[in-house]
Amino acid sequence: MRNLVNIFEMSPRDGLQNEKKFISTDEKVFLIDQLSQCGFNKIETSSFVSHKWVPQLADAAEVFSKINRNKNTKYTALTPNERGFNDALNANVDEVAIFTAASETFCKKNTNCDIETSLKRFIPITEKASKLNIPVRGYISCVTHCPYENFVNPKIVGQIAKDLFKMGCYEISLGDTTGKGTPDQTLEVVKECLKYLSADKLAGHFHDTYQNALDNINVCLENGIKTFDASVGGLGGCPYSPGAKGNVATEKVNKLLLSKGYETNLDRDRLKECSVIAQKLILN
Ligand SMILES: [Zn+2]
Repeated sequence: MRNLVNIFEMSPRDGLQNEKKFISTDEKVFLIDQLSQCGFNKIETSSFVSHKWVPQLADAAEVFSKINRNKNTKYTALTPNERGFNDALNANVDEVAIFTAASETFCKKNTNCDIETSLKRFIPITEKASKLNIPVRGYISCVTHCPYENFVNPKIVGQIAKDLFKMGCYEISLGDTTGKGTPDQTLEVVKECLKYLSADKLAGHFHDTYQNALDNINVCLENGIKTFDASVGGLGGCPYSPGAKGNVATEKVNKLLLSKGYETNLDRDRLKECSVIAQKLILN
């Protein structure tokens, strides 16, 4: 299917991680089970991160043990360190993700080290994952703007994308964490990354704070990128990026893609239901 575009569902992880009110494990499992009926290839289910950093996702192992897995769906998790990676293995995670940022200040606030060190820290994970045949995805945050440094140099993004790929990431997801990225800036970032990687190794991860996400996705599509991260109901901000609103809503991205003649293999009615479930979860 030449026209297939993948939407990587983020709501259980990126969508919920910043929620102050603790969403119960059963509520998370219910959302994920409903998402499993929508036709997603991949659902980022949780994060094996320190409970201190992200208390909302402290139940990652329990979530993984309780979900009803759809055999056509891969259930993925963020693994910030080796301990998290081992926990993810124990929970039978299908795929893991590692992350860094294109801004030194954001990287320090988020991971307590500079970009270079953050990349080095992941080498034991990518090596072990490769031996075990576990796919590793790489995230780069703040690809156009940083909440602390403002503009980010696209050349830095290109270099990091190259490094993550060399380390063994099968795909690099370019994250506009603040949602401030304009289509022109997105284009610059994409062009830099395409110097080193082909479009099928790249994904777009846009937050819709300023309603730029769909325009940025269009820029990516025009450059051959065919995977986009999104969250049903537009869930999710970022704890280290004050004011950043949620991921672009899955149902919005799906509608855009269908209107442009792409296929997504997602069930629109079920997506709508999931969007309602997701938004109810975060209402107090
Ligand atoms: Zn995000």
